[in-house]
Amino acid sequence: MQPAIILVSEDHAEFLADEFGRYRRDYDIQAVTSASAAADLAHAIHASGGQVALFVSESVLPDSGIFEAFGLWRQAVPTARRLVVAHWERFIEDAETLRPGLAKGKYDAFLLMPRGVRDEEFHTAVCELLSDWGSTVATPEVATVRVVAEHHDSLTLSIRDFLDRMGMPNLVYEPDSEVGREIVALYDGEPTYPLVQTIRRAVIAPAGVRDVAAAIYGRPEDIDIDTVVDLCIVGAGPAGLAAAVYGASEGLTTVVVEAEAVGGQAGTSSMIRNYLGFPRGISGMRLAQRARNQAIRFGTRFFTGWEVSDVTPGDAERPHVVHTDGGDLQARAVVVATGVAYRKLRVPGVEALTGQGVFYGSAMTAAREMEGYDVVVVGGGNSAGQAAIHLSRFAKSVTIMVRRASLAETMSHYLIAEMEYNPRIRVQPSSEVADGGGDGRLEWLDVRDTTTGEVTRRNAEGLFLLLGAEPHCDWLPDTVARDERGFVLTGRDVPKDQWANGLPPENLATTVPGIFAVGDIRSGSMKRVASASGEGASVVPLVHSYLEPAAQ
Ligand SMILES: Cc1cc2nc3c(=O)[nH]c(=O)nc-3n(C[C@H](O)[C@H](O)[C@H](O)COP(=O)(O)OP(=O)(O)OC[C@H]3O[C@@H](n4cnc5c(N)ncnc54)[C@H](O)[C@@H]3O)c2cc1C
Repeated sequence: MQPAIILVSEDHAEFLADEFGRYRRDYDIQAVTSASAAADLAHAIHASGGQVALFVSESVLPDSGIFEAFGLWRQAVPTARRLVVAHWERFIEDAETLRPGLAKGKYDAFLLMPRGVRDEEFHTAVCELLSDWGSTVATPEVATVRVVAEHHDSLTLSIRDFLDRMGMPNLVYEPDSEVGREIVALYDGEPTYPLVQTIRRAVIAPAGVRDVAAAIYGRPEDIDIDTVVDLCIVGAGPAGLAAAVYGASEGLTTVVVEAEAVGGQAGTSSMIRNYLGFPRGISGMRLAQRARNQAIRFGTRFFTGWEVSDVTPGDAERPHVVHTDGGDLQARAVVVATGVAYRKLRVPGVEALTGQGVFYGSAMTAAREMEGYDVVVVGGGNSAGQAAIHLSRFAKSVTIMVRRASLAETMSHYLIAEMEYNPRIRVQPSSEVADGGGDGRLEWLDVRDTTTGEVTRRNAEGLFLLLGAEPHCDWLPDTVARDERGFVLTGRDVPKDQWANGLPPENLATTVPGIFAVGDIRSGSMKRVASASGEGASVVPLVHSYLEPAAQ
């Protein structure tokens, strides 16, 4: 069954139906003339097992205000994307009243109705909305990677999360399904589940996500150990990706080693709205995969799924050696872009259910499996707000829990406003998770009121922990100076007693010549996508002048 696009307009229904004709092959285009007819249609599609990908509504409707109409449709299908189109005769007038709704997330885009044929700007926006819906909601039509699993265990979920973050469409099959049997037959040996058939067609029984990554993307030792690359970047979040794009495009032989999926923290974000040049926002996965493809175009080589465990610093004569379980790499310069990772909750009953209803980060794949569940998000930052909004598309209810008395100090105003408008999201201030449990997966949480100390038990089938972050660079040699919290010191932030010849290191340089640090891992960094990618780009001239001092 094709997913539906519902067009809602009294005066221009025919015009819009004609304009959306180009999508007829892949979508079921339905045109109605009122808000209530659209709601009835959405309910009917949902009841018959179909999906609604997009509502497109004219700014003025005969039976409802536009905000109320979107509220009604959101109740029917919370996962659909929402577009308002204004007729050109009303655009200026509508813009004034409708733009604030956009800022509050009442709909995803507000566009001028096309004035003629081939309005590709309009259709680029429509395609972006459909692509975003397709990558976060719809089941892929064609899977690049196929997984055979008996049930949705935590390993299967981690593998799917990795594949989703790498932008690889994947599907799970039961072992006794037709496709499942076909894949099991290709496995050499007694199958243990999950089995994974990668894009290279081989079937493996992975012990962890790394085995899947290695099967798809190779191992660092695939590079001849005698080869010395100019630049090894550790970490492929926005900072590492920007360093790769600029390093490779400026002629450096560049390798990136990434412990998990490309994209880092940003890759787990459902929608980044404040990155320059993306007025409708962009999902972290799509931003990361675009950057990765851009870096590959310039010749960067990526090793994904390999954690760097140590670096043996080199000097003017000898390269640095970067160590991983999958082999070592030699590099003349190293850029550390390892960012930060979420703090643990440290409540044993809850930790024991990680992957079984308990997740660190926004866990985009797990979010889809929260349909009809009561979900709790712990954390007061923007990442928690984004996760709550994304989860509310699937879950029955989402409760944001924070220790503080309110979110005002820690979350951006636009997210607080968007959550206030969303009837499925509730904020529970002055609260913390004291315990949790369930039979094999999370079923309940004990919540402590931080002002009275009172503990109350509640149902929760999902717990998403976005607790603030700490640096991860224990693997760096002690000679790379860090601040008291473990963030890497660079430039003038390095204490004077560690300066060489009375001079501080260059701006993004550490205390070890040839090792640089960029992005969230750097002491004093801004902790945003734009600043991380800006630092990634800015480090490249410094790497150049380190490698070829005479040429500068
Ligand atoms: C859910 C969420 C939503 C966010 N939304 C926004 C937003 O809307 N706008 C905004 O500006 N900012 C946002 N942020 C913050 C932003 O994502 C970060 O500031 C940014 O990602 C930092 O980039 P980075 O490259 O420095 O580090 P990271 O993104 O943390 O990437 C570091 C990478 O290094 C890898 N790594 C770590 N250790 C090793 C090792 N030893 N070996 C190999 N690899 C390693 C990690 O796996 C990771 O992929 C959000 C963050 C989160 C978590």
